[in-house]
Amino acid sequence: SYDEFYIKSVVRAIPDWPEAGVIFRDVTPVFKDPRAMRMVCDAFIQRYMRTGITHIASVDARGFLLGSVVAYQLNLPLVLIRKKGKLPGTTLSREYQLEYGKAAIEMQTDALEPGNRVVIFDDLIATGGTLLAAISLIHELGAEVEEVAALIDLPDLEGSQRIQDSGIPVHALLAYE
Ligand code: 5GP
Repeated sequence: SYDEFYIKSVVRAIPDWPEAGVIFRDVTPVFKDPRAMRMVCDAFIQRYMRTGITHIASVDARGFLLGSVVAYQLNLPLVLIRKKGKLPGTTLSREYQLEYGKAAIEMQTDALEPGNRVVIFDDLIATGGTLLAAISLIHELGAEVEEVAALIDLPDLEGSQRIQDSGIPVHALLAYE
């Protein structure tokens, strides 16, 4: 059964990566541990079962690994939010601010349409910039974002607060202060 302390014990802290002073929360051990991975995915699956959600959207790249399992189990369509330049065909793009410089994410214009009710998956919420850009893309396609789902929230960086202030609920399984 679900055990938050177990999952927390599996996530690994990498000090000073990708730069000095940052503690990176490495979730790759969760993907490597079937018990932890099953707990995490089952928690999301239970939350979104029979909720009227029509699509799972997942963020490049670790969000794909969570979102795809949930979409499979709930028998829902999976749509991808990818880093710039990865998706073929007609795409929409959103730039967002990183600590140094800018990044951009993209979706195919036929990924979603008005009336769709979407949950967006990513592994971790830091400043919230990535997920706010993802929400903006989905809204531009005319779809609704019902909730944002993440394995980890870093509340000190206030990203989840920023997302909630924009009117979108946030559900994270773990928080690190
Ligand atoms: P944000 O846009 O909220 O500032 O940053 C979140 C994005 O950066 C997510 O897509 C996430 O994968 C990545 N990210 C930032 N910090 C970390 C971290 O400590 N651990 C992991 N696993 N991903 C991070």
